[in-house]
Amino acid sequence: MANKRMYIISGGMIQCDLANMVCMPALGNAREHEVKSIWADSPVTCMLIENEEGLVLFDTGCHPDAMKGRWDEGNRMRTPVSIDEREGVLAALEMLGYRTEDVKYIVLSHLHEDHAGCIEFFSQARVVVSDKELTGTMRLYALHGDMGGYIRKDIRAWLDKEICWDLIAEEEEERELLDGIRILNFGSGHTFGMMGLLVNLKDSGNYLLVSDCVNTKENYGPPIRFPGLAYDTIGYQKTVERIHRLERKYQAKVLFGHDIGQYRELKLAPEFYS
Ligand SMILES: [Zn+2]
Repeated sequence: MANKRMYIISGGMIQCDLANMVCMPALGNAREHEVKSIWADSPVTCMLIENEEGLVLFDTGCHPDAMKGRWDEGNRMRTPVSIDEREGVLAALEMLGYRTEDVKYIVLSHLHEDHAGCIEFFSQARVVVSDKELTGTMRLYALHGDMGGYIRKDIRAWLDKEICWDLIAEEEEERELLDGIRILNFGSGHTFGMMGLLVNLKDSGNYLLVSDCVNTKENYGPPIRFPGLAYDTIGYQKTVERIHRLERKYQAKVLFGHDIGQYRELKLAPEFYS
């Protein structure tokens, strides 16, 4: 088996209105017309896989200076993040005795602030992303419209550092990246173009890393519940249905994007799955 270990790296804790992740979590009724929004913890994670051919990183978390001016005021207010100095991908690599140059591939689920914030530290890596996602993000940037979950300063850094992008075309449903690591192209849903990873481990079995294709177990259902934030709701539903099929086919464990309950049960780096 070509994968030796998978580390789950904690990238800090976002707090946000639960409605971002699960649509209409609190609904008014005849007696209670005004309901309060629910302010919730939303853990950020990324995964580091030790493969015989090199290190693969799935997502990169938030930029370490997210709350120190890196993010716009709107992002800092909507989704404030707290990142401990021992958290985040850079601290994890150092703790595990690796340098950033050791990472050969980065696979990005999408380009939002809490997944693509540290790309610039890996300018020697091949950065695999959905063509639709990069195109959609750059279009937003060029038009200077509302960037939502995309960060202008992150994008400027990618351009400055001349990131080595490797695009997955819309028609390319799957790609075997390395032995035991398969890229899954889910298409539009949460954002313009979402991707996941199927990781095979000798003792622990198969893992489906689905990121924000499924934020929490409430979204996964059944029945499927939509998030408050979705670029394409039909695409979102089709993606979740496909993930259910993949889970059965590969008898895989599904790791959600931001599920606090699941997060508390995970072994975090330096512990690992092998
Ligand atoms: Zn996210």
